[in-house]
Amino acid sequence: MAEFEYDLFVIGAGSGGVRASRIAAGHGAKVAVAEEYRVGGTCVIRGCVPKKMLVYGSMFAEELGHAENYGWTVEGAKFDWATLRDFVNRDVDRLEGLYGKTLENNAVDVFAERATITGPHSVKLAGSGREITAKVILVAVGARPAMPDFPGVEHCITSNEVFHLEHQPKRLMVVGGGYIAMEFAGVFNALGSEVVLVNRTDRILRSYDQQIVERMLHIAMGRGIQMRMHSLIKSVEKAEDGCLLVDLGDADKVRVDQVLIAIGRQPNTEGLGLEAAGVQPGSKGEIPVDDYNRTACGSIYAVGDVTDRVQLTPVAIREGHAFADSVFGNNPRTVDYSLIPSAVFSQPPLAGVGLTEEEARQQYGSVKIYSSDFRPMKNIFSPHAERGLYKMIVDETTGKVLGIHMIGPEAPEILQVAAVALKAGLTKQAFDDTVALHPSMAEELVLLK
Ligand SMILES: Cc1cc2nc3c(=O)[nH]c(=O)nc-3n(C[C@H](O)[C@H](O)[C@H](O)COP(=O)(O)OP(=O)(O)OC[C@H]3O[C@@H](n4cnc5c(N)ncnc54)[C@H](O)[C@@H]3O)c2cc1C
Repeated sequence: MAEFEYDLFVIGAGSGGVRASRIAAGHGAKVAVAEEYRVGGTCVIRGCVPKKMLVYGSMFAEELGHAENYGWTVEGAKFDWATLRDFVNRDVDRLEGLYGKTLENNAVDVFAERATITGPHSVKLAGSGREITAKVILVAVGARPAMPDFPGVEHCITSNEVFHLEHQPKRLMVVGGGYIAMEFAGVFNALGSEVVLVNRTDRILRSYDQQIVERMLHIAMGRGIQMRMHSLIKSVEKAEDGCLLVDLGDADKVRVDQVLIAIGRQPNTEGLGLEAAGVQPGSKGEIPVDDYNRTACGSIYAVGDVTDRVQLTPVAIREGHAFADSVFGNNPRTVDYSLIPSAVFSQPPLAGVGLTEEEARQQYGSVKIYSSDFRPMKNIFSPHAERGLYKMIVDETTGKVLGIHMIGPEAPEILQVAAVALKAGLTKQAFDDTVALHPSMAEELVLLK
């Protein structure tokens, strides 16, 4: 009889867990995965994918405005939240099915229940109470929205609930200064809700180039998003009419229909039983791992958001893949964390890769900044007159491009390609040598002065 029931037991069928399961099974391992909510994890079920669909849905408001400028008559256009919400959720169901099929096709056993660790080689399933042994355990449990502590916090929602709201809030307060807060503020503003963004400091989107962020804030305020910086919620009260009264410490309370908390994401390690295997989480609850995703316990590994390295889907997927190749494919691999591109699907979106101007000045001293501040052609008839901004940070000595940052229509699409150039270590000269593709927005990248 085999010493263990499985070669690999994965806890969490999200981005990292599904990839690791599939690849390990492909290498011949006998694999099982436990999922306490829905197969696909945060990205597919209540993160990147449904969020991007809401962004697309909300962008029609702007598109319809443009359409009229281009001579179209848009009669009777109106928005229905329930239609968009249900369409998005139907597609999420479809994707969940596809992820389940992938696991099934790779002969991965799926347990639709919570699992906790009971020892270096054992887990317990919460529903059935069954104990299962495995040679290797992979913790891929992700993260959950962090919640502040104030009276009435139970009346607030997070990104987990926003995809299921029965009604579109007429007045929405978004709390936080990260990308999730900015994205939902943008979506509901575009859909016609009154949006107020509350943040503890005056710094929004800390890891992005602050000149680009300032442009985004300027545009967001121009579009009607109210900004309440240096503000903290003291309490939230439910009024008799069902509205929420938010105390920000002013004479008057702010009356809104929903408060969406988006102040960060916290690794999902509470009650996971890590101590039974001698694994001690860090101060934020994250699981410390080495370059090969190994924890302090030799048979337990962790990948994705739970390790709090870079909380992005493509990173979790790479970590899951590298883990499976290393442990089951006889091909030890680590993930390269340099030059990871990322975007904020605000309206307009912004994106960046490499060093920001601030970081480059700290690390390199003298750097050259090239930029283009332009009005996207598509907006030329727009009453908003919003301008795009592209920035390139270049090492003065070698001419090597250290960072590219941009805000404007399609910025994430353009930046993904620019990230290849950075990864290849190209210089500003290589951009200058490239003939512009005209007329396009991306051509600004090879015309930067
Ligand atoms: C609103 C929002 C928008 C986002 N947008 C983007 C984006 O645009 N781009 C991007 O790259 N990233 C985005 N992310 C982040 C991205 O979703 C995560 O980085 C990614 O999902 C992490 O993958 P993971 O495998 O570590 O964890 P997850 O995908 O979170 O999967 C973990 C899974 O483990 C399950 N689980 C937890 N505990 C247990 C247990 N004890 N037993 C069984 N199952 C358990 C959970 O239910 C979950 O399904 C977004 C996140 C949110 C919330």
